[in-house]
Amino acid sequence: MTALSEAVHVLTEDHKVNPDKTGKTFNLVEEYALLTQLKEAFTANRGTGAGASGPKGVISFNALNLWEDIATVTNNHWRGFGIRAVSRTPLPERIQDWARSVEGSPDESECFAWISKWNRQIRALDESHAEVIGRCPECGESEIVVEDDGEIIKKAAVTRVEGHAYASCAQCLAEWEGLDAVRELARNVSPV
Ligand SMILES: [Zn+2]
Repeated sequence: MTALSEAVHVLTEDHKVNPDKTGKTFNLVEEYALLTQLKEAFTANRGTGAGASGPKGVISFNALNLWEDIATVTNNHWRGFGIRAVSRTPLPERIQDWARSVEGSPDESECFAWISKWNRQIRALDESHAEVIGRCPECGESEIVVEDDGEIIKKAAVTRVEGHAYASCAQCLAEWEGLDAVRELARNVSPV
């Protein structure tokens, strides 16, 4: 399996993962496709899975935003887009087809970059987030407005995943990964 096909597999198909992130033990368990988990995070009948640790309204808002982002980027690259005969092709198959069409071509690295970014973003939804107070250096927003059971609430746009060197903006979907990037973000967040 190439790095691209492995990333596509994790995003679009049920797969096995090792829940021990330290790698000390090796005990593979079945996990739903990340896209399936993402969809569950913004549909009503979701259980206690992705995002159960965070506020429901924000998690589902972020999940829906991310799903739409994935669909838009995929349609910009998928060779079937706009072809009527395949207009009902589900998103996971569109992504698989896009990846197959760029294998071994100069576009492969761009496709891989998108798909591995989405995999990280979907996994980050499941972690507990700490709010970063200030304006996002990318889009300038400090808050997002979400509706939760008819109630309008405001949440910080930028959140940091606790225990990981990872932060993201729910407004523009910018992300900061790694200690240097997160420190850089902390320096560049401007006061509201
Ligand atoms: Zn932003």
